[in-house]
Amino acid sequence: MRIPKRVAVIGAGSMGSQAMWRLAARGAEVIGYDRYAPGHDRGAAGGESRIYRAVHLGEPAYIPLLRLADRMWEQLQAETGRSLRRRSGSLVMGEASSPSMSLLLSTSTAQGLDHEVLEREELARRYPQHRLPDGHIAVLDRLGAVIRPEASIQAAAGRAEHLGARLHRYATVREVVPAVGGGVRVVTDQGTDHVDVAVVTVGPWINTLLPDLPQAVDVRRVVCSWHLPTRHDWFAGGAPPFVRAVPHDCFGIPSPDGISVKLGLSFKYHAPVPEPERLDRTVRPEELGTFRELIDELMPDLNPDPIRMSAYMEGYTQSGNPLVGHLPGEDDIIVMAGFSGSGFKIAPAMGEIAADLALDGTTRLPVAFLAPAGVGAA
Ligand SMILES: Cc1cc2nc3c(=O)[nH]c(=O)nc-3n(C[C@H](O)[C@H](O)[C@H](O)COP(=O)(O)OP(=O)(O)OC[C@H]3O[C@@H](n4cnc5c(N)ncnc54)[C@H](O)[C@@H]3O)c2cc1C
Repeated sequence: MRIPKRVAVIGAGSMGSQAMWRLAARGAEVIGYDRYAPGHDRGAAGGESRIYRAVHLGEPAYIPLLRLADRMWEQLQAETGRSLRRRSGSLVMGEASSPSMSLLLSTSTAQGLDHEVLEREELARRYPQHRLPDGHIAVLDRLGAVIRPEASIQAAAGRAEHLGARLHRYATVREVVPAVGGGVRVVTDQGTDHVDVAVVTVGPWINTLLPDLPQAVDVRRVVCSWHLPTRHDWFAGGAPPFVRAVPHDCFGIPSPDGISVKLGLSFKYHAPVPEPERLDRTVRPEELGTFRELIDELMPDLNPDPIRMSAYMEGYTQSGNPLVGHLPGEDDIIVMAGFSGSGFKIAPAMGEIAADLALDGTTRLPVAFLAPAGVGAA
């Protein structure tokens, strides 16, 4: 009988919970660790909602990963009986002639993605919540959706435990190092475990656990602001989540309970986080300014006085692509980090890739573009 591989998953958040699920489903002996517990709000996954888009505003090589993730979100829902993702469509709005919109349109057409271009008048008719400046268009992604991050993490981790995985909650891993004679040593305050392979998915804490990564992950504080509509029909037309580029790069997600709209901004508005364990979670009134401008100019039917503002964290790479692969020179340590503000939608695909790399040493999925210099090609 083949002895199952013993695999540590360090960080049972967005990626780690999915990695645990896929590894347990494939018969590995899985030991998970998290400094908190699945579904907490202190890292990259808080705030109740995430946008799933089938169309992509960048590297076309993401499309196969999005397709795989799409199927796996369905599978996770089916296996757990939980409602984790609501198909609502999603909107991408920007200047018709901008390079990013041109790339999005050409990729979506070439890949046969189910989308529709809405000119200004058509958008106003179907989605009166939004205003578009001259020369701008909206792309409606019909497969777009809203995902519930906390519920998804709990569902994936719970499913993994059901399949036999063990998860150490409130167990901070202090060290993950190659063991003499092979395998990996995982050190916590409670003791040391020896495993065959370790998958490191500690999100914004990556520089604390692995300070010598070959590529920098810039950890930033991300503020979201929740607003109530002033019109009772704001949610008309399904009110899909949206991303838009002007006057500020931003996103918005009508809350799954249909009560408020969550707004967020892009990288240039996010302050650095020198120490993730000391994230400043207090949001000051002056941080509201950009959100107010956005509402004023583009969504005047939202009340600019927020009902809530919260701060989270995320790791960003310079390319915007995450680091996915073996640590240089370490066949038994796999890292997944730096998801740069758009990782949640592909999390189940990352779980599958983690399982491939941990159990087979390689993956047939097209992720070589996510293994930049220094991180072993996946
Ligand atoms: C406000 C905001 C909005 C976003 N919106 C979207 C969106 O709409 N769509 C989208 O696709 N993506 C979005 N993203 C990006 C997405 O949420 C992230 O890319 C994703 O959550 C990153 O997952 P992760 O597993 O790397 O980190 P996390 O989910 O934070 O998981 C890391 C886990 O590791 C644990 N951990 C840390 N250190 C240790 C240790 N030493 N020992 C044990 N455990 C440890 C932590 O407790 C945590 O549970 C958004 C991000 C933010 C912050």
